[in-house]
Amino acid sequence: MDSFTNDSSTMKQIRDKHFVPYITSDKITERIKALAAQINEDYKGKNPLLIGVLNGAFMFVGELFKHLEIDCEITFIRVSSYHSTESSGQVKQIIGLKESIQGRPCIIVEDIVDTGLTMQEVLGQLASQKPDSLKIMTLLHKPDALKVPLKVDYVGFEIENRFVVGYGLDYDGLGRNLDGIYVLRSDS
Ligand code: 5GP
Repeated sequence: MDSFTNDSSTMKQIRDKHFVPYITSDKITERIKALAAQINEDYKGKNPLLIGVLNGAFMFVGELFKHLEIDCEITFIRVSSYHSTESSGQVKQIIGLKESIQGRPCIIVEDIVDTGLTMQEVLGQLASQKPDSLKIMTLLHKPDALKVPLKVDYVGFEIENRFVVGYGLDYDGLGRNLDGIYVLRSDS
């Protein structure tokens, strides 16, 4: 049997784990359109730089970008700190930022804020480059999992402290291509 089942049944098996539907793709698209409308409003005439955090945010930032009607630019960074279903708590350096962000309005776009440790680190490293402003947007936010004080400016969905996959988020490399968000079944 394949290690990744992506058929029309509602439950998804990814390797040894079972995931059930949590947020539908229609709801995600609707919410992203609303976030884009907010950015169109807040950043009119400001030419913001969106900084997508790879790999998880690629689908989110792609959909968001399609609905931005203002002048805006996009770049991607990579930070890896997470293995399997538990946060390692170890945060590495930002890699991949080629352009100068000095004096620019920037929006970091993440897939999920869990403990907040990754975002705190990213925020600190980018802030040291003196952008004009630096805001945080995340598709998913687990407020109960936060371990550091963090102001998240734009949130797609606040979710429970449970492990999710889909829409760019993976379990052990798989599941990113699911068009909705799925949550780990409690008996998994
Ligand atoms: P934090 O540093 O906030 O604890 O974790 C941030 C990173 O951990 C996210 O960018 C993501 O890669 C990963 N992560 C946190 N929670 C989840 C989750 O529920 N599912 C998946 N697939 N990744 C998660």
